[in-house]
Amino acid sequence: MPISEKPVNGPHVVLIPSAGMGHLTPFSRLAASLSDLCHVTIVSVLPTVSSAESRHLSDFFSSYPHVHSLQFELPPFDSSAYPNADPFFLRFEGINQSAPDLITHLLTKSSKPISALIIDITLSTSVVPLAKSFGIPCYILFTASAAMLSFCAYFPTYYDSNSGSIGDIQIPGLRMVPVATIPQALHNPKHVFTPLFIQNGKNLAKADGILVNTFEALEKDTLVALRDGKVQPGFPPVFAVGPLLPVNIPAISGASEVFPWLDKQPEKSVVYVSFGSRTAMPKEQIRELGLGLEASRCRFLWVVKTTVVDSHDNTELEELLGEGFLERVKDRGLVVKGWVEQEELLKHKAVGGFVSHCGWNSVTEAALHGVRMLVWPRLGDQRINAGVVARSGLGMWMEKWSWEGEKGLVSADEIGERIKEMMADKRLMATAQKIGEEAQMAMRPGGASYEGLVEIVRRFEGVE
Ligand code: UDP
Ligand code: UDP
Repeated sequence: MPISEKPVNGPHVVLIPSAGMGHLTPFSRLAASLSDLCHVTIVSVLPTVSSAESRHLSDFFSSYPHVHSLQFELPPFDSSAYPNADPFFLRFEGINQSAPDLITHLLTKSSKPISALIIDITLSTSVVPLAKSFGIPCYILFTASAAMLSFCAYFPTYYDSNSGSIGDIQIPGLRMVPVATIPQALHNPKHVFTPLFIQNGKNLAKADGILVNTFEALEKDTLVALRDGKVQPGFPPVFAVGPLLPVNIPAISGASEVFPWLDKQPEKSVVYVSFGSRTAMPKEQIRELGLGLEASRCRFLWVVKTTVVDSHDNTELEELLGEGFLERVKDRGLVVKGWVEQEELLKHKAVGGFVSHCGWNSVTEAALHGVRMLVWPRLGDQRINAGVVARSGLGMWMEKWSWEGEKGLVSADEIGERIKEMMADKRLMATAQKIGEEAQMAMRPGGASYEGLVEIVRRFEGVE
């Protein structure tokens, strides 16, 4: 629909994303989809933590001028109580502490009465009670898998009844989450993330509804258990609205050599390797991964990342990967640093497999384009997401491969063998393609996820 014909009437929904591309990306995708159905505002909390977020916001608002932007400058936040904490976790805490100011700012500056808020899970402790006190319906967009949502919903009950000690966790009505799969931070009660995660889990249940970036065909059993109140009695309504479709914004000028190189490769021959926007592997492991890619003899496109925050990354590839590596692989491998247009890349006909850290956006993008995966979770929710990938048949998960904080390297030989196995597995390729068809169907008018969004907007109108 041309922009001039976009509806500016109807309910007014305000979206409050949190820090990190993994959180911002699904929010901008949701904003774009909702803006076909109602009036949308996005709150940007400034300054952003990473350069990628700042670029994404400015490109998004230029391309979607009918989505209103409301900026909030975050007051200085004293982080001295959390030495060496992840800057994204610190930002979650910072926004929560400033939430009363943020909501007051929003109510004062909003040009239209607010029909509903849609917020990130990391903000639910502070924002859900505030929204209730102002009588504004408050929904959560859960940016990870429904499997992670079920964990998040049940974890506070488990934690309280086990006095904070953690073992394997049986999610009622669903499956066991082995202790080794639980996000690293939650093993430490003093970690900045732990109390936040528990409080957010408790407040989740007080929201008016939860939107999840997943689809029925991918996580049906989990969605049913959540809706039936098996995981947590009295749980709010859960709407599967994914995989949220990519936004239409100009490409970020990052690694410009990628697409001309891909265009020259045979169909489905390339392994794309990326560990997301904020996962940095230890340097020794990066070298083994490089040697593993070389040993696999497959064509590959590898995005290397060495720091959590993008603007801190100054390492030279030659120095990182070892002398001679780039020269040896130049006939079949492209190694880049910096931002690539991942979604466009997964859509490219030359890409036949994806080695991924299993961030949920990466999984949904692979699902949407039917690309088989070899997942190597490193952190946080990624092992729980990896369970979904393995159960659905979208990809392979090497459960024994290391994760952050664990000692030991995964050897180049092992990595090379598994990459070869993924690329040779025709059944995996066919299952991934079928999942891709189901994903595309879910997002079309009449599809379950599309109709889920329509129902939510109807709720904002009070029609139900
Ligand atoms: N992304 C991208 N180019 C990059 C790195 C990441 O487009 O070079 C996108 C990716 O497509 C996804 C998001 O950034 O939409 C990363 O989210 P995900 O949940 O996969 O992982 P996270 O970065 O949060 O760990
Ligand atoms: N999460 C949560 N409660 C919280 C904070 C995070 O349930 O209080 C979930 C959230 O869905 C996220 C996952 O835990 O996807 C991991 O969070 P993190 O921000 O580390 O991951 P990211 O998505 O930025 O890679």
